[in-house]
Amino acid sequence: MSTCTLCERGEAVFMRPYSGEKLCRRCFHKSIENKVRATISRYEMFQPNDKIMVAVSGGKDSITLLHILSKIEKAFPEATLCAVTVDEGIRSYRDEALKFAVKNCRKLGVEHIVTSFKERYGYKLDELVSMILERSEKELTPCSYCGVLRRRALNTAAREAGVDKLATGHNLDDETQTMILNILHGDALRIARVKPVLAMVHPKLIQRVKPFCMVPEREIAFYAYLKKIEFQGIPCPYARTALRNDIRTMLNRMEKKHAGTKFAIFKSMERVRPALEAMVEEAKLQDCKRCGEPTVGELCKPCQMLEKLSVL
Ligand code: SF4
Ligand code: ZN
Ligand code: ZN
Repeated sequence: MSTCTLCERGEAVFMRPYSGEKLCRRCFHKSIENKVRATISRYEMFQPNDKIMVAVSGGKDSITLLHILSKIEKAFPEATLCAVTVDEGIRSYRDEALKFAVKNCRKLGVEHIVTSFKERYGYKLDELVSMILERSEKELTPCSYCGVLRRRALNTAAREAGVDKLATGHNLDDETQTMILNILHGDALRIARVKPVLAMVHPKLIQRVKPFCMVPEREIAFYAYLKKIEFQGIPCPYARTALRNDIRTMLNRMEKKHAGTKFAIFKSMERVRPALEAMVEEAKLQDCKRCGEPTVGELCKPCQMLEKLSVL
């Protein structure tokens, strides 16, 4: 390529079209780590003595986040870091990913908790999917079950471990895709809920934070590649979110033609969010009459979904 535009010494290995920077290995690594530090401080994600849990799926984003947070955490001796993986029970997919999660946690010396759908709900996702297929109801997709049940499992595992924050690997691409997805679903007010730090609305809910929300996916992938971080690369067999894939392709095309598009969307949403939040009435949470977890209605979403399959 050419010389690094930051240190003006190293050989550039990465070009950032949206800023015009050409970065050498060292400056690239530092820029990503600094971006994460800046995001954490900008959104006040952590306190110096927080117990932080990273949701590690075994994929590129969450494992790279674990590596970076474990590096950053060294400067805060009072903070502690641990990891959690939810084994949904997806044969030859999550079992593989779990191995990568275990390997990386061991390498970094991070305590690793594994929890599963089977132990929490009595069924693996594979088993739930067979029931979903039998019923062939359109709104019952594997991903909708998986997402709702995983969020619950993560929150419960985090609460049981007594952590203060739960960090997830959502990156800039995920966040902008979700924002556009909400608009295309005609649910613009939901954008208020796509944010770097999710509000604490109930003592039983552990605060979720997204330290990668301003890092493009491509840069996380390159960081992982340069650092030789091992992760699972194959997609989930149930991944059929056609609309999200179309949005991803569209945003990547836009980004290629008009560098900085994703950041522009993210920043625009940041600006309108306070107005959107003011329009949305804060939901009053009560205890689910079946499981006791916080919910808006009488029955929480996971209980509703499991009841629909008649497994409760
Ligand atoms: Fe779960 Fe769907 Fe993700 Fe697979 S693609 S892990 S089913 S949410
Ligand atoms: Zn450099
Ligand atoms: Zn419930």
